[in-house]
Amino acid sequence: MAPISPADVYRGGGAITWSPSVTLVPTRSCFNACGYCSFRRPANPVDPLADALPDGEARAVLGARPQAAEVLLLSGEVSPSSPHRRAWLARLQALSRLAWAAGRLPHTNAGPLSLAEMAALGRLNASMGLMLEGLGPAYDALHRRAPSKRLEVRLAQLEQAGRLGIPFTSGLLLGVGESQADRREALEVLARLQRRWGHLQEVILQPFRPDGATAERLTAAEQADLLGTIAEARRTLPPEVHLQMPPNLWPLEALPAALAAGIDDLGGIDSGDVINPAYPQPTPTELAAVLARSGYRLVPRLCVHPAWQSWLPAAIQEQARRAESRLLASISSGPWS
Ligand code: SF4
Repeated sequence: MAPISPADVYRGGGAITWSPSVTLVPTRSCFNACGYCSFRRPANPVDPLADALPDGEARAVLGARPQAAEVLLLSGEVSPSSPHRRAWLARLQALSRLAWAAGRLPHTNAGPLSLAEMAALGRLNASMGLMLEGLGPAYDALHRRAPSKRLEVRLAQLEQAGRLGIPFTSGLLLGVGESQADRREALEVLARLQRRWGHLQEVILQPFRPDGATAERLTAAEQADLLGTIAEARRTLPPEVHLQMPPNLWPLEALPAALAAGIDDLGGIDSGDVINPAYPQPTPTELAAVLARSGYRLVPRLCVHPAWQSWLPAAIQEQARRAESRLLASISSGPWS
């Protein structure tokens, strides 16, 4: 059989992408205390990196998911003024290198970074991310004890990523009490950023879901409300920006409605969700079946979308080409689990 090329896979209507992903958590220790967070552990004042992920454990996590091309580094944050900040960054770099050595592509989401920190990680990462989350009083209340979530800090960070030319993921956390006008303004902010820098490869439209022992399904009214926002995002954001929905936070049988409204990407999918552990990930086989019934195709991609790969340093482009070849070969050898 002839090898599958990227053009074969992504060409034509109906392609809905996802990134086979594995998550490394460098530390859950975080100096912020966002109102909705159950991921964080309070920072140990003596050593905020006391729970840092050792290399051996990181290798074991990667080894358990050999087909995942993306390594999501999802970290709690160390204060920029902390004497431990340098060691925290060194840990992120070390884990990025470890992902590299395993032939994967790191994607770091570790909160706001200084220019030098972001540039250093940008030399090792195929893409990076930071949620805008939203703007307005509902978010201000949730972030009262989260200094790095101040709106001006997040906006400066998204600008900085654009200036550095880093393929970037941002997004909104929806359903925390924000108004429709707040949502519209947040989408317009992201659209302006994209028109200026062109680096936003994807915007996540993430429904807020409460933590607990079991998943709380979105009601029909909540789905209808969010479908309106997806459609508005599609109208507001430039067409090259992919719209992403985490599929474990949306009822599986209603996914085609979200796709019809404008979602074209399901993001990085690991075997579980470390942020929302009560919300199990559908398997790619389940997703593919639901999509096929509505005329869509589920196709795997790297963490960096094809249109942004030429932005990357030559060494990362080379690693991306190798990872993409393996990913495309896996389409015919499947199935994914
Ligand atoms: S910054 Fe992230 S890890 Fe820290 S408290 Fe907020 S949501 Fe949790």
